[in-house]
Amino acid sequence: MQNRFSKKLKIAIYDFTDCEGCEVKLVSIKERLVHLADRFNIVNWRLGQEKIKDGPYAAAIIEGTPVTQDEIDLLRELREKSKLIISLGACASIAGIPGIMNKSERKKWYAKIYGANYKPKGIDALPLSAYVKVNHMIHGCPVDEDELVRTLEELLSGKTPRYRRYSVCLECKLAGNQCRLLHKKICFGPITQGGCKAICISGGSPCYGCFGVREEANIPALVKILRRFASEKEINNHVTMFFNQIPEYKNVFKQALKNYKK
Ligand code: SF4
Ligand code: SF4
Ligand code: SF4
Repeated sequence: MQNRFSKKLKIAIYDFTDCEGCEVKLVSIKERLVHLADRFNIVNWRLGQEKIKDGPYAAAIIEGTPVTQDEIDLLRELREKSKLIISLGACASIAGIPGIMNKSERKKWYAKIYGANYKPKGIDALPLSAYVKVNHMIHGCPVDEDELVRTLEELLSGKTPRYRRYSVCLECKLAGNQCRLLHKKICFGPITQGGCKAICISGGSPCYGCFGVREEANIPALVKILRRFASEKEINNHVTMFFNQIPEYKNVFKQALKNYKK
């Protein structure tokens, strides 16, 4: 039988600095993409393949954040060769956990672990978008499997994937959780894009915002509520977890913290 798609889409998968947790999620959804198997070929996936296929690529799915010049050069090359650049997970989309450590801390820890003479190659972890245009971000630390399947299905059908327009709070209520804010506990659910099913709150932890700040989020309103019971330091620590390298969010938090001093 002739293939409906005369030419399969070539999708390259790459990773930079990260924990590879989001790639594990990619592996675990493979059966759920079987119905689309006649539409694409995966190439250059370091975890399972040698780098054998050169571009152009219909899409490059990239996990992790580039922290060396070699990784930045590769990212720029992939941008040139790919119609779409898709970031996979919080590290690639918003710098995530690798972004927590800033230059001075990194210097201190390099010296402590490797000795004073060690010359590190690493630079600040920034999101992919600090270097190249990113066409779509798949959020989460790690990414949510259902979100991953939905996004890939939409991409492979030639659609533009949608971002969730609601916050984690909606999913939190659907999960039947009591709101942490009522118990004077920090939570970034109101400003965070939905899609994770409020998994952290259901498990007894706060939302730190790994799905990224949603459109129309009202950060000052959240800070005003949090300042009724949380210190500036506690809120800043929370911000550092996923937004440390996203100045546009950090600055709004900073200004709001100035405005809502107890
Ligand atoms: S987003 Fe989280 S799970 Fe995914 S690679 Fe980065 S640290 Fe790992
Ligand atoms: S616990 Fe967090 S996510 Fe859940 S409703 Fe309250 S603020 Fe929203
Ligand atoms: S609850 Fe918040 S921190 Fe946890 S997975 Fe969802 S978006 Fe990420």
